[in-house]
Amino acid sequence: MKKIIAILLVAMLALCAVAEAPVLTMGTNAAFKPYEFYEGTEIVGIDAEIAAAICEKLGYQLEIIDMDFATLIPAVASGKIDFAMAGMTVTEERLQSVNFSVSYATGVQSIIVPVDGPIKDIDDLYAEGAAYTIGVQEGTTGDIYCTDDFGDENVLKFKTGPDAVAALAAGKIDCVVLDNNPAKAYIETYDNLVLLESDYAVEDYAIAIALENTELKEKIDAALNELIADGTVAEIILKYIPIEEAEEAAAE
Ligand code: GLN
Repeated sequence: MKKIIAILLVAMLALCAVAEAPVLTMGTNAAFKPYEFYEGTEIVGIDAEIAAAICEKLGYQLEIIDMDFATLIPAVASGKIDFAMAGMTVTEERLQSVNFSVSYATGVQSIIVPVDGPIKDIDDLYAEGAAYTIGVQEGTTGDIYCTDDFGDENVLKFKTGPDAVAALAAGKIDCVVLDNNPAKAYIETYDNLVLLESDYAVEDYAIAIALENTELKEKIDAALNELIADGTVAEIILKYIPIEEAEEAAAE
């Protein structure tokens, strides 16, 4: 009996220790396969696993919150969430409102077109008199670059990348600009869509943290640097992306 009580006590203490670990809330947009997506009701993917590894190293519990991509930076800046990890590109403009960790992966903006459509190369978008309707995910770098290059009137903004891809497959728009790994993942279900060879932009993915939270940035950077150095980050990326593409996706 005493033994059972002792075991129960140990088990309760262990449970309390877990429950007492402080929580870090991560905002993401879970429609960005293979970085974040749903498996049943759980958000999984490269970012979810790297975040879990960081939190484990730092002694935090991780809570992931699914949000619209465009609301992530304001949520970090206002302290509503502790950090955002969403295949998020480091840009000068975002650096005005948040800090970024060291980069853990490389992203490429690429262009999805209908197999037998008129756009065969990125240059076709810039051709004299061209006025294609380009689908993007609202608030992403694809949205920002396309709006700058082709004007607001030629850019249709969707809440998620898969929504934009579905509109393209249905013939409602002429192309979609999206990060290459999600683009590859989301065109898989449509045999009338293809990815152009030419890349629109190459970018660094990093974790966004509030400007004033320098302590958390330092902790996250330290953990992330260790996870990059010991091969954990590369291993996680390889789990979700085939080897030849993983080399491209790994941060330099
Ligand atoms: N890398 C792009 C950006 O940061 C898109 C990210 C995303 O859609 N989750 O804007």
